[in-house]
Amino acid sequence: MLFENENEKMLIVAPHPDDESIGAGGLLTLYGPKCDVLLLTTGQHGHHGGLSEPEVTKIRKKEISAAINLAKVNKLFTLEIEDTRLYQNKKTVYSFDVKNYKYIFVPNRFERNLDHMAVYPILRRMIMLQKSKATLVEYEVWTPLRKPNLFIDITAVIDNKRRMISEHKSQIVDCDFANAGIGLSAYRGMFANCEYAEAFFVCKSPLKDFFKLNESSVLLFARNRKRMLKKKNK
Ligand SMILES: [Zn+2]
Repeated sequence: MLFENENEKMLIVAPHPDDESIGAGGLLTLYGPKCDVLLLTTGQHGHHGGLSEPEVTKIRKKEISAAINLAKVNKLFTLEIEDTRLYQNKKTVYSFDVKNYKYIFVPNRFERNLDHMAVYPILRRMIMLQKSKATLVEYEVWTPLRKPNLFIDITAVIDNKRRMISEHKSQIVDCDFANAGIGLSAYRGMFANCEYAEAFFVCKSPLKDFFKLNESSVLLFARNRKRMLKKKNK
């Protein structure tokens, strides 16, 4: 059974403060003590309310700490990469040790936000580089998964998920993320025969799975590879 072994540590990778609560607040509440959260960027380009970037960074760090404390998460790690510049700073991410984690949760590969899109390929490569045995699991933030293969019943902890999202006060001024996030959980609940659920995609083998699911990406990859080989041979 997934996640039942006490010693199997889980890492939830959040590109910005709030992604962890919107995408996996229920999961974090259910398994908090065996979870670490890795916050990649400062989120300084999020909603600022007229504050300076350093002030926004400070506030958002406090907000994510308060949110994950509600789930009794084991530890928060922060890499302080500039918001929107994750892919350009992937080497900073590579330096984080993922060898001790059994499951690594990332925003799904279909997310539209630039930083969100960058996480899956970076972590996929890290797992290979570090020869980690971790299983990648994709979660939903701004773009729902096309074909989730895991639903977790979060009905019992839905109030805590709402509280976690609401801790990101600086970001919910214009948009009620709590309601939106809980709405997606209610929608997912329909497919899991419960009131509220979170949906995930468990990748058995990241590379194999990547090729299987994205035929257009495979074609694109093949074309780029051909182009690269041509250039190399010139
Ligand atoms: Zn985000």
